[in-house]
Amino acid sequence: MNACIFCKIVAGQLPAHRVYEDEDVLAFMDINPINHGHVLIIPKVHYAELRSIPLATSTAVWEVVKKVEQAIWQTPGLSCEGTNILQNNGAAAGQDVFHAHFHVIPRLSGDGSRFRFKLVHSTDETRKEWAESIKNQMDAK
Ligand code: 5GP
Ligand code: ZN
Repeated sequence: MNACIFCKIVAGQLPAHRVYEDEDVLAFMDINPINHGHVLIIPKVHYAELRSIPLATSTAVWEVVKKVEQAIWQTPGLSCEGTNILQNNGAAAGQDVFHAHFHVIPRLSGDGSRFRFKLVHSTDETRKEWAESIKNQMDAK
């Protein structure tokens, strides 16, 4: 049996407040919203992380992310002044639910949430080297 909570939501075995649905994609309200209007967008088929999703499916998911984000700006009462699009891959990145998903989070100035990323030391030379390494990896695909 599939224990994935998002697969259970897709199958209707767990309740969720649905915002949008088509053959490939489902959007629903996050159960613990960072702000009112916090929406999750998922492929209906189970893929653990972004890199596992086939390109066509990830494009379909991204189209819904765009539509939800636009709607949030215009939804009366949310008073949206900004948005964060968040997508965590792996426990090290804070992923809790291992069914790939995008967060669309409405933001208001002074809402008190902030990201606390710790920067690494880098130089122009190290950035150049990492650019080359990543480019080589992309070219090898
Ligand atoms: P992650 O940290 O994996 O990027 O985010 C997982 C998100 O899923 C969290 O924001 C959490 O509130 C949400 N979530 C976890 N369980 C449920 C659930 O059963 N229903 C809904 N609607 N959202 C959930
Ligand atoms: Zn799943």
